[in-house]
Order: sequence, then C-alpha cells, then structure tokens
Amino acid sequence: MYRLRFHGRGGQGARVASKVLGTAAFLDGYYAQDFPLYGAERRGAPVAASTRIAEEPIMERGVIPEPDIEIVMDETLLQDPLTMPLSGLKPGGIAIINTTHSPAEAKAEYKINANVLTLDITKIGLDMLGMPILSTLAGGVAARIVGLSEDSLTEAVEKVLSEIITDRNLLDKNVAAALYCFNAITPAETETETKIEIELKTSDTSKKKSSKVISLPFEPAEVSSPAINATGNTPLRMTGNWRVFRPVWNYEACTRCMICVARCPDGCILVNEDGYPYPNYDNCKGCLICVEECPTSTLGKVMEVHAKNEIE
Ligand code: SF4
Ligand code: SF4
Repeated sequence: MYRLRFHGRGGQGARVASKVLGTAAFLDGYYAQDFPLYGAERRGAPVAASTRIAEEPIMERGVIPEPDIEIVMDETLLQDPLTMPLSGLKPGGIAIINTTHSPAEAKAEYKINANVLTLDITKIGLDMLGMPILSTLAGGVAARIVGLSEDSLTEAVEKVLSEIITDRNLLDKNVAAALYCFNAITPAETETETKIEIELKTSDTSKKKSSKVISLPFEPAEVSSPAINATGNTPLRMTGNWRVFRPVWNYEACTRCMICVARCPDGCILVNEDGYPYPNYDNCKGCLICVEECPTSTLGKVMEVHAKNEIE
C-alpha cells in the first residue's frame, strides 16, 4: 500500500489533489481512499489531505501518521511548528516540495532527512492557469511518483474538476497543467523501511502501470490537525506566514471608502490618522478578499514567497 499526505493551505487545493490522485489510482485498477483533514474553513490555514492506494481492499481508516510520500504544496508550512508537514515521514520515503529550490538546497534549508524532490508548482500554476490553485498540478506530480498512467490522470482531472467547475477552458488548462507536472517531476527510486517498490525509471506508461503495490500492517491514527493550545490566542498566531500573495495599497486612487476594512475577514486592516487603510502584515493571511472588493484600482498584490515578479 502507498500512503500519501498532501499539505497545503486552504484555497490551494490539497483536498482536490488527493481526490485526483485517488481517482486516477482507481481508474488504473487499484483500490483507493482519499480524504481531507481540516478544521474550520479558513482560506490560507494549513490543510492536510491523504490518499491510500493498494492492490487489495483497504481496511485501514483514519489519518495517516507515517506516510510513504509527502507532498508539501506550500513550503512555508515547513517552518510552521504547529503544522510540521513532514512529521512521521517514513525513513526512505519521499518529500515532494513546491519550491524554487533544488532538492539539495531544500534539504539543507529545511534540514530534511529524507529523499526530496522539488518542483516550482506555484510558478507552473500561475503560468498555465493564471492562479496559484495547485490541486491538479500536485495530483499530477503524485500520480507520476506512484507510477500511475497519464490516461488515468487525464480522466481523473476531467472527472473531479467537472464536479467543481463549469468552465471548459479552465478544465482543459488544468488537464494540461496536471500532465505538465506529471512529466516535469524527476522521478526517484526509493526504498522505505517496508521495502515499498517504486518503478519510476521509465516514462513508458505500460511499465509504470505495473508498479508493485504491497500491503503494510495497520497503524493507528495518531496525528491530528493543528491544535488550539490555549484560549484567546488567535492574535498571537502570526498568520502572515500563510501568505502566497501580499495585498499592497496605492493611496493615489484610494477614495477611503473603507470597503476593504469592512470585508477583511480577519480584521487586520487598520486606518491611519489621515483616514487611509493599512494592513497588519503580521496577521494578514493573504486571502486577497480586499483586492477583490476594492472598487478602485488602489489595491494590488505581489507574490510573497520567493518573490520574483510583481503581479499587477
Ligand atoms: S488584508 Fe486583505 S489579504 Fe489580508 S487578510 Fe485581510 S482581506 Fe485578506
Ligand atoms: S476598498 Fe479600495 S478605495 Fe476603498 S478604502 Fe480600501 S483601498 Fe481605498
């Protein structure tokens, strides 16, 4: 059995990624489970989702405490002590990280003692979809790593997304982006403690479909979602590290209508003595609702993590 965990932030699509992978595995003839784990709906909050894939019926239930493969869709999570996305990763397992770093750089930067693969999925999402929603892209990466076929990945993306979106053009772009990621990730042969075999040395689809999936003993669910450790500590949670994009103000066009202040779900837009809004970046989680709601061109956004390009 393969056990995979996706870690992302609310809005990035970890849940859909796990579903795309599970659906592709099912279409390839395997048994599959996929399920998310998150608390109250909060865009930008840490989210986890899991997928199990096996040749036999899967009797195991619950969260996956010791995954074989982790897909980290937001690298800032690696520095979040309440999330710890790589906790429990089996020795010899694979961590796939969405980053601009090379695998060696990521291992050194985040002190990771595991096999690491990297791909700048956010850039691919922005280039191909025009948005940092990474569900199908991460699903494509994971499908390649566990040895599923391109055909099943394509069908899975079509099936899962057609339940969510009606825009055919966007759906086609997602299929293309998933396949791009499927072929862009560099496979690696690995061996976990339990001798899981992964045949990834070829791009030959028929050979990839023959990857061996074996059963492992049941393990209890011991890992849960990030916990609230004390009452009234929300302001202490520096959700500014959740951001992919940062809202920025251009006061020349600001009419001081206060719509952004009213719409911010976290109340982190303040007003200065001249009546202009300004953000508390310690707590601004980067949901960009303020950018959407601003009736003028006052508010724009810049990429926060490994910023290379100003967007707008
Ligand atoms: S300031 Fe804007 S981007 Fe930040 S949390 Fe508030 S609405 Fe979201
Ligand atoms: S919504 Fe736009 S125009 Fe209105 S106060 Fe906020 S930034 Fe200024």
